[in-house]
Amino acid sequence: MNTLHVNVVTPDGAAYEGEARMVIAKSVTGEIGILPKHIPMVTPLDISILKLRHEDGGRTLIALSGGFMEVRPDTVTILAETAEMADKIDYDRASAAKVRAERRLQDTKLSDIEFRRAELALKKAINRLSIREMKD
Ligand code: ATP
Repeated sequence: MNTLHVNVVTPDGAAYEGEARMVIAKSVTGEIGILPKHIPMVTPLDISILKLRHEDGGRTLIALSGGFMEVRPDTVTILAETAEMADKIDYDRASAAKVRAERRLQDTKLSDIEFRRAELALKKAINRLSIREMKD
């Protein structure tokens, strides 16, 4: 087997299913590249872009808002709270979410939880916007 079967699942259903030659994901401890026959593991993922490299040289980019990745020798399964393929991202919406989060973070009266929530919203918005700048 030269490819991995990749599944990206969210509470709303399947976000992606297909084959990849390599999966590049950002765990909370750094970026990891997964090739077929990888040892089994489970790792939490950061708010990040999942990159799939395909046999034909193509690439798929998926914005993830954290989650977990389960690796088996021939399969990679990602369970994420949200996952958007690059062509499904609404950049105007992400820009508006970024501005809202930045404004909230300027409020000096935020509780710790409110501050943390705004930080996460900002990180998710920046992550979605980052796909636009990614080139091969
Ligand atoms: P917003 O403040 O714009 O709602 P959010 O970060 O609060 O953004 P989430 O709670 O992460 O949104 O996601 C809610 C749903 O909307 C999910 O299904 C997610 O995939 C989708 N979604 C959020 N932002 C975008 C976007 N910019 N483009 C496409 N889908 C999005």
